[in-house]
Amino acid sequence: MPTNPDLRYDTGATWLDLLATVGSAYGPAPVDRLGSVELLARWLERQGLAPTAAPDDDDLARARELRELLRPLGLAAAAGRAPDPAAVEGLNAVLARDTPLQLTPALSVAAPPTAEAALTRIARQAAEHLAGPTAGRLRTCDDHDCGMLFDDVTGRRRWCSAAVCGVRHRVRAHRDRAAAGD
Ligand SMILES: [Zn+2]
Repeated sequence: MPTNPDLRYDTGATWLDLLATVGSAYGPAPVDRLGSVELLARWLERQGLAPTAAPDDDDLARARELRELLRPLGLAAAAGRAPDPAAVEGLNAVLARDTPLQLTPALSVAAPPTAEAALTRIARQAAEHLAGPTAGRLRTCDDHDCGMLFDDVTGRRRWCSAAVCGVRHRVRAHRDRAAAGD
């Protein structure tokens, strides 16, 4: 199966990783890194949500829809703003299709039967995160061209990734200092 090396798995939550499947999401030229059904299947597998039935085009559309439904809710929470009622309503509509978890005899959570079921689990996780005590830990990356949302567990994380945006920031600061010295 194809993989996309630019997909991110370090935001701290599956639903935030879903938002991060759009690269440069807040810049002038966003890149959809969940560009095919195969990439969606691979991504779900990597998240431990590989469905029993293979995803199809409708599931890819559902994943993109859920992603853009959750984005304004996450951004509003990170900024301490009230959520858009239409987005809350949209999320409720997805949650209404949620099905109960089933356990295997070995007490692991049974695989979702379909990609749609996997996506509703992600919606449930987002709802619990956004409506729970951990909502206040949502942050956006300090690099304004990035703006990626993540769960700031330590309360000290500035960057979505120290290796990506942290390094870029240091390089830029160094360049600015060098330019000022000329
Ligand atoms: Zn970043």
